[in-house]
Amino acid sequence: MSSILNQESIEKIIKLSSEKSLYICFTCINGLSNRQLLNILEKRFINNENKQCQSCLDLLDAEYMMIKVKEIAGHVSTINEFQLHICLPFILTLRHLYFCKLFELNPEQVISVKDVIKTFITIPIEKAIHAQHSIKGNYVIELKFDHAESKIECEKLMQTCHRTVSSPKRFKSSLIVNHAALCRLFENPNNQIVEQFQLIPIETVCTLDVSISHEPIYIAGRYIKLSRNLSQTPWFVNDNRFKSSVQEKIFSGINVNIKYSDIKFSSSGREDVDVRMLGIGRPFMVEIFNPQWSNEDVIAKIKEHINQMHQDIRVRDLQFVPRNESQKFLKQGEQEKSKTYQAICCIDRPFTEADMNILNSVKDLVICQTTPIRVLHRRTLSDRHRTVHSISARPLNVDELDDPEWKEFLSQMFCISIVTEAGTYIKEFVHSDFGRTRPNIGSLLGNCRADIISLDVLEVKLDWPPIIDD
Ligand SMILES: [Zn+2]
Repeated sequence: MSSILNQESIEKIIKLSSEKSLYICFTCINGLSNRQLLNILEKRFINNENKQCQSCLDLLDAEYMMIKVKEIAGHVSTINEFQLHICLPFILTLRHLYFCKLFELNPEQVISVKDVIKTFITIPIEKAIHAQHSIKGNYVIELKFDHAESKIECEKLMQTCHRTVSSPKRFKSSLIVNHAALCRLFENPNNQIVEQFQLIPIETVCTLDVSISHEPIYIAGRYIKLSRNLSQTPWFVNDNRFKSSVQEKIFSGINVNIKYSDIKFSSSGREDVDVRMLGIGRPFMVEIFNPQWSNEDVIAKIKEHINQMHQDIRVRDLQFVPRNESQKFLKQGEQEKSKTYQAICCIDRPFTEADMNILNSVKDLVICQTTPIRVLHRRTLSDRHRTVHSISARPLNVDELDDPEWKEFLSQMFCISIVTEAGTYIKEFVHSDFGRTRPNIGSLLGNCRADIISLDVLEVKLDWPPIIDD
């Protein structure tokens, strides 16, 4: 506490407040003064014990505070560390500013009621709930104080001030009560608030609403998608029916282990419905709001549920991650990193060793892709340049065919592994999209027609989240 007042000023405060018949409690005065003056004040104010403080409305009264601490403890079960958020009614801001003006003090140099209550209430709460206060605590205890007279008094003050200084036009538009508006009124030298506005003596205390929530948690991992008939996020058909999705299957494991108010899925890019995600999978993250769980080994339980209940997806490297880095890493993976794909392709003539050599010699080939027809409805029409870093081609084995009907075309089919810059449209690079991707597999192989039969993502290069599973 800064000592900003001398004895003379204290005498002035006492005189001014008693002239206005506004009792101010010892704690509030303490906030305005220094330690040497406490004794004098204690004597002066001891007679006013039964009156309600017109500055803090008895919020800083020790007895009131202890009752509230008991109330808070009743809301809280076992937690380790908590943050404390305190929300006060505007009437306390108003009265704080009012008394500063009355006593000719700079409000910024006077300790606010919020800071005082925070200082006073934190340790009793810690003791009552056997938990530690910390700005990094996982739980947030929110104390929302309110007062029945708050709105009425703030509006009355704003009307009084605006009537005397503003035009009727401005009066209407700026009558919203908030902290900044109140500060502006008190800063305005035209507002003779202390002379014009009469604080009504208040005899009721604040009400308190306690709520406790958990900070959001972040679970990251990688998913492997083995189906060519599964979209990444829910797919709506006829307004409300949707097919299953990777997102839902991952949520299913969370739903049985964690209670929450809301949940959000994000990932480092996405693959088409008919594209498998193989290799070590695609990084994703789930943000879970207001989570509650009792299981010790919740991550292992979630992973087990997902991998046992669903045949077409697998998750790995599941782990809690800190908030800050997660979004950054996912975005990075989407925009900057290269991707490795595997495609089964077919041309309109037999695939030869010479063809294989042409494809294998591709090194950092820049291709131009006019926005593909299939995404034209959601992307602007433009030419984008992307780099195909390398291609590794080989003839196809008969046992690699998904469908035996393709058998007669086996000599025309081949498999490529292709490493490209993020954002390259692979399907279009193979089948050319009616010449909209240039060059393409067909043009590289000497103007033959090429098509793509299936596509898999083999690798999304991103060192996040850390690999923890084999
Ligand atoms: Zn007080």
